[in-house]
Amino acid sequence: MNACLAGGWSFNGAVALTVLVGLGVILMARWVARQRHFPGRESFIVLHAGIFWWLAAAGLELAAQAPDCKVFWAGMAWPGIIGVPTFWAVFLWQYVNSIREPLRLRGFLLFSIGPVLASALALSNPWHQLFYGPGTLPVDDSPGAAIRYDHGPLFNAVAIYVYVFMFFCLAVVTRAALASRDLHRRHLLAFVLVTCVPWGANLGYVVFGWTLFGFDPTPFSFAFTLVAFTCLILGVRLFELLPVARHLLLEELPDPVLVVDPQRRVIDANPAALALAGGPGSWQGKALAAWPIYGERLDALLSAGGHEMLLIPGAAPRYFEVRSRDIERVTRGGTFVLGQMLYLRDITERHCGELKLAEALATSEERLRTITRLHEQLQEQALRDPLTGLYNRRHLGELFAREVARSQRERSPIALALIDLDHFKQLNDRHGHLAGDDVLRAVALHLTGNLRGSDAVFRIGGEEFLLLLPGATGEMAYARLQALCRELAEKALPTREGPLTVTLSAGLAVWPAQGQTLEELMQLADSALYEAKRNGRNRVCRLEASAAD
Ligand code: GH3
Ligand code: MG
Ligand code: MG
Repeated sequence: MNACLAGGWSFNGAVALTVLVGLGVILMARWVARQRHFPGRESFIVLHAGIFWWLAAAGLELAAQAPDCKVFWAGMAWPGIIGVPTFWAVFLWQYVNSIREPLRLRGFLLFSIGPVLASALALSNPWHQLFYGPGTLPVDDSPGAAIRYDHGPLFNAVAIYVYVFMFFCLAVVTRAALASRDLHRRHLLAFVLVTCVPWGANLGYVVFGWTLFGFDPTPFSFAFTLVAFTCLILGVRLFELLPVARHLLLEELPDPVLVVDPQRRVIDANPAALALAGGPGSWQGKALAAWPIYGERLDALLSAGGHEMLLIPGAAPRYFEVRSRDIERVTRGGTFVLGQMLYLRDITERHCGELKLAEALATSEERLRTITRLHEQLQEQALRDPLTGLYNRRHLGELFAREVARSQRERSPIALALIDLDHFKQLNDRHGHLAGDDVLRAVALHLTGNLRGSDAVFRIGGEEFLLLLPGATGEMAYARLQALCRELAEKALPTREGPLTVTLSAGLAVWPAQGQTLEELMQLADSALYEAKRNGRNRVCRLEASAAD
């Protein structure tokens, strides 16, 4: 070592350039350290240190004049020579797999074993000469001439170690480039090209003897590669831009988004999800069911299949549509569910609109029902006499037609009777119109009280009534009317003027024997009624019965 220091130094252009490149590497390492984080950044900075070391040793080897000294500095370069491909591989692995956590100390020490061991073997060469053989001599006699190295078996073993790592680097970026698409693929293909540069330089040196200032061009090619990688990573920023953009999107999203693991513990939540839960304190890793406000409901919803709506009660209840999506990792061994992303879409406005619409629909349906009911009532009222509640003449035609149709099928007769109260004018005059009304109501009750199921009674005029007795022959109808007449005459009818009595006269006609139409029958019945009046009232009269009766 002392001999080496005493051997003299020569600082020529080549040394200056090496120093400059080394300084450039240091400055770039500083600059990279200040940039935004990217996966594998720490390993990338260690790489700078490795290349700087290598370049520094190379510069010293170039500057040293004594051959022993040159060999010594060549040995000193080995931590850099081995460290560079080793940490190159670590960096690329972290970068293409987006591993943001820096290498732990244990890993760092593990990857440092190779460089340390190789350096120890190189530096202990004077004792075993297995790294550089005895043929390691200057190329000529000129002072400071470059050394031609006689590579021993240990050197070759270490070279294989280096190539394994360099091959790994190439394989990692090639595989990543093939597995990706579009912009990612182009970015990674550029990585592959850049990774080939040190390969080319090294193979050129080993196979064809290419040199730079009579020196191995590999460290310079690595320095170039570093610059190219830095430009690619920090220039394109592809691998950080997309995640950052996605992260920002999630942060800004007004809808809550949660990420849960397979045990349904909350791994991530955007500000909207946290705000909806009332900003829980320490929430990461907490079970979803234990989340305040909506955790329990959401958990139950997911257990039930998760297709329903989530209701968050409160003064102003909110409704959310829950969408869940499995987060999967596809490997050669199969697909593994890493967790779920839960997306809660606020549909309060839409849902409230739907509720209001349903309410309005129900109200209008209710109104329609009321209108229909009123309409039916009106129709019914139009058919009924308001004083007695009996059907009026309007309903008579329809009912008669219906009864005729049935009687035709059943081949049975229909009796029709016209009834007129006797001396009703007098009753009115004597007891007043209102008492007359009471009598009319009482007579109506008397008539309906003596009807059978299929019979019908109508008020067709002031104190005139009509009875339809389906199935009744002339004889039967006559007998029933006689009874009605007799019983009415004997009945004290309650009125506001006290109990009153009234008698009736009735005329009878029978379908089909005495007439086919309602008009014909009414005509006949009216004639019979007139007959009854003429014969002294308080009686039932029928015109001569026909053979069919
Ligand atoms: P007749 O025995 O000949 O039938 O004698 P009448 O007095 O009943 O004669 P008419 O049939 O001509 O008289 C009908 C009377 O009935 C006239 C009218 O004052 C009365 N009247 C008609 N409609 C009503 C009513 O709604 N209420 C009351 N109180 N009286 C009525
Ligand atoms: Mg009359
Ligand atoms: Mg009368």
